[in-house]
Amino acid sequence: MFYRWEDFKSTIKSLRSLKMRIFVLLLLVGLIPGYCMQYGILKNYETRAISVRISEAQAQLKIIADHLITYTYLQDPSSLVVNAELEQLSNLYGGRVLIISDNLKVVKDTYSISEGKTIISEEVVKCFRGESMSNYDPDLGYIEMTIPISETVTMESSETGAEEVREVVRGVMLIGISCDTIHKTMDILGNKANILQLIMMLIILGAALLLANFLVKPLEKVTVAINEVTAGFSDRAINVPDYAETVHIIDAFNKLLGRMKVLDDSREEFVSNVSHELKTPITSMKVLADSLLAQEDVPVELYREFMEDIAKEIDRENKTITDLLSLVKMDKKVTDMNITEVNMNDLTEVILKRLRPIARKRDIEVTFESIRPVKATVDEVKISLVISNLVENAVKYNKENGWVKVVLDADHQFFTLTVSDSGVGIPQDAVDHIYERFYRVDKSHSREIGGTGLGLAITRSAVLMHRGSIRLESKPGEGTIFTVKIPLTYKA
Ligand code: ADP
Repeated sequence: MFYRWEDFKSTIKSLRSLKMRIFVLLLLVGLIPGYCMQYGILKNYETRAISVRISEAQAQLKIIADHLITYTYLQDPSSLVVNAELEQLSNLYGGRVLIISDNLKVVKDTYSISEGKTIISEEVVKCFRGESMSNYDPDLGYIEMTIPISETVTMESSETGAEEVREVVRGVMLIGISCDTIHKTMDILGNKANILQLIMMLIILGAALLLANFLVKPLEKVTVAINEVTAGFSDRAINVPDYAETVHIIDAFNKLLGRMKVLDDSREEFVSNVSHELKTPITSMKVLADSLLAQEDVPVELYREFMEDIAKEIDRENKTITDLLSLVKMDKKVTDMNITEVNMNDLTEVILKRLRPIARKRDIEVTFESIRPVKATVDEVKISLVISNLVENAVKYNKENGWVKVVLDADHQFFTLTVSDSGVGIPQDAVDHIYERFYRVDKSHSREIGGTGLGLAITRSAVLMHRGSIRLESKPGEGTIFTVKIPLTYKA
């Protein structure tokens, strides 16, 4: 038969279904014990029936063997009584009876084939020695038996001269007993068992089909419920309490759903924040431009002043976009990390050199204390963002004549960068939100000094991408300490 590869694949696929497995399992559990029982019972019956037949035949043959001695049949096999008995025996057991005399000559054969012939068979010789045997041949369906024809004689012992009673074997009866009746009974029993087995199979088949459907139903309910959520019909938490396992799956799914909802909400919030942040400078520019257009004969100085304001707004828009792009880069995969060995002392020095002129404008002193030389495998660009954002903030949210102190230290596993300032500090209730995108403690002040609210979000992402940690201590009015701890060797 031509069997297509696709058919084979679909057969394998259907075998992988839980319903199919439960069905096959129930079918096997239902049928195998039935077949084992049928085989065991029939085998047991056969053994038992054969052994009963052997012992019955042995008792009967013993009586006939005595008659053979009584009628001196071995010397003269013409006794009508004995011949009739032998004939009856042969008919009764559906087999052949041979009487063999002590010179191994066949005296009587109920099939009249071997009379007068000599039989030299191991069993017969053994029987003359007193070892009778019975042998069942399952292939031929025959039992073969030998029974000694023995006579009790009283004789004088050649050694002691005392009289003793002995059994002397005068001949052997060899008989083949047919087991047809036993096999017929077994056939009838086997057929009945097969019919019962067939009925059982149909019942088990039906039961297995129903049970497999019933057991798998809750899992199908889970699929339907999840599909409904996926298709958008419902966004409510789903509930299939049928099994502990379905409860676990549904719990995990509901958690995932909750997480997706949080992500979705935060994405929406982010988009609306971005739109707002980008719209603010545009609105200001529009107001400035409109007010210039509304007036006629505007003096050049006013034009200049307004144009300067418009340029400032453009700068702010530019900075927000740059920061947003940095943030998006941080959200990318770890594979985008460009890891090299960086001398942290040199890198910090370079960044501080760039920022000192800005600090000097407000008479803020920026100092750097390098406890030991630090070399780390990091993404240089991202770590530069961390240092510059923290130091820029320490300068921005500082007071006139204030100070900023940067300390770089390391142990055998991590390097630590501490940025402390004498600035305005961060109120306790704002500490939990400080790393959120667009969060600012004092919105208008931050905007005034050119803040986008994205700096610390970028910093935290960069630190986490290096599997590091960031924490802060702050006293409002006194100052803030940011501590960043990053592994010396980057592990993906
Ligand atoms: P921004 O661009 O506004 O500075 P950040 O994300 O860098 O945004 O900082 C968020 C807010 O955290 C700032 O608006 C400011 O209120 C506060 N902040 C950050 N660093 C400091 C600091 N060193 N001292 C006081 N406040 C700070």
